[in-house]
Amino acid sequence: MRKLTDTKIILASHNKGKLREIQLLLEPFGVECVSAGDLGLEEPDETETSFAGNARLKAHFAAKAAGFPALSDDSGISVDALDGAPGVYTADWAETPDGRDFKLAMARVWDRLEAAAAPHPRKAQFNCTLCLAWPDGHDEIFAGIAAGCVVWPMRGVHGFGFDPVFQPDGHALTFAEMLPEQKQPLTHRADAFAKLVAGCLE
Ligand code: IMP
Repeated sequence: MRKLTDTKIILASHNKGKLREIQLLLEPFGVECVSAGDLGLEEPDETETSFAGNARLKAHFAAKAAGFPALSDDSGISVDALDGAPGVYTADWAETPDGRDFKLAMARVWDRLEAAAAPHPRKAQFNCTLCLAWPDGHDEIFAGIAAGCVVWPMRGVHGFGFDPVFQPDGHALTFAEMLPEQKQPLTHRADAFAKLVAGCLE
């Protein structure tokens, strides 16, 4: 496993929610982060069919363009009673002609569960795959999960994406009802990040 020796990396994401959480996770390691948006990089199309495939695509694109290591995150929510949907296509379920609408995406998931008369609790998991890629084409991949269930109606104002309908196992609050510091250690992102720390930062 290759160690990160650079003190600067590019965060290969344009998602403000993800960027906030990854910056918070990286803070204690003294690694300077710039985002793909700050460097004016475009977002490559996510054409792969797996979290790892899309994470690789985004990290290599940014590392090659920037000339230093890049960290990407591909994530989504997989609902058991929907055979793992929306999964890799989570962001696509929010697409509208006027941009992404995650309230609509959450309602779409709930409507599908109702139509299927899915039993409660409606178990789901967030998945996150992080890819750390170097400009020479090497990469390391780390996967994490957060297990819980989808609830309705939406609750909470914090976080982003599907946070208002995701209640992690062992907790009475949704991710969106938690403050960032409460949500952070419970996330799929923190789970994957702990593996990245053990592999590449320690
Ligand atoms: P992608 O990784 O760019 O394909 O987008 C993944 C989508 O999954 C995001 O746009 C969010 O809607 C959702 N997602 C990923 N992680 C989280 C999270 O921690 N909370 C809520 N939604 C998330």
